[in-house]
Amino acid sequence: MTSRSIRSLTRAAPGVHFVEGPLSNWTILVGEDSATLIDAGYPKDLELVLGTLDQVAEGRPLKAVLITHGHSDHIGSIRGLQARWSLRVLAAAAEIPNIRREVLHQVDFRQVLPRLGRYGVAGWAVGAVAAGGLKDVAVADVEAITEGRPLVVSGHTVIAVPSAGHTPGHTAYHLPEANLLVTGDALVTGHPTSRTSGVQLLPAMFNTDRDLARDSLERLLYTGDLILPGHGPLLR
Ligand SMILES: [Zn+2]
Repeated sequence: MTSRSIRSLTRAAPGVHFVEGPLSNWTILVGEDSATLIDAGYPKDLELVLGTLDQVAEGRPLKAVLITHGHSDHIGSIRGLQARWSLRVLAAAAEIPNIRREVLHQVDFRQVLPRLGRYGVAGWAVGAVAAGGLKDVAVADVEAITEGRPLVVSGHTVIAVPSAGHTPGHTAYHLPEANLLVTGDALVTGHPTSRTSGVQLLPAMFNTDRDLARDSLERLLYTGDLILPGHGPLLR
């Protein structure tokens, strides 16, 4: 058994902490009395999510999780977190069926198998399965957020920015006070299946609508000075 560890934990702005996990990233917003997560890693990342929360939230309770999209590597630890705290879980209305697993917009074996010979794909697939990527991660109780309308969580103003394409209801989150953008998988800066680093989309098999994903990426580039992506390092 290999032990999992995070790649980095960076204070992106006052009360905003960016965690590069083993395979996907999450962000922790810390306020006076509580903390809020944006995305939550794979199921096997639960201990790492808890560890990073301990480190930056210093005992403040977790009050909410904002979800960019319903993939296993972004919602995987939520059920484990719900066992510890009573949480509000929020996402765009269009993404909620995917988070509840009433539908599944996620790459599956039929798409992965013929591509196993491609750069990084076999290693990524092994890592994803080992991280609990095939576990049932459905979250039943999810509130819809209103896109464009500011929401205050743990003292931080957050605006949901629609960014469909990677999934139908994908949402990025803009924090206007820090002028930073949490992009989820609508904009990444690296991935095990990509040879390049820097702003990019994930390879085509990961996106439900490539054209929409391209449009979303273009729009996101003009929102915020600091990019906290779903995969890859933080970008200024
Ligand atoms: Zn994704």
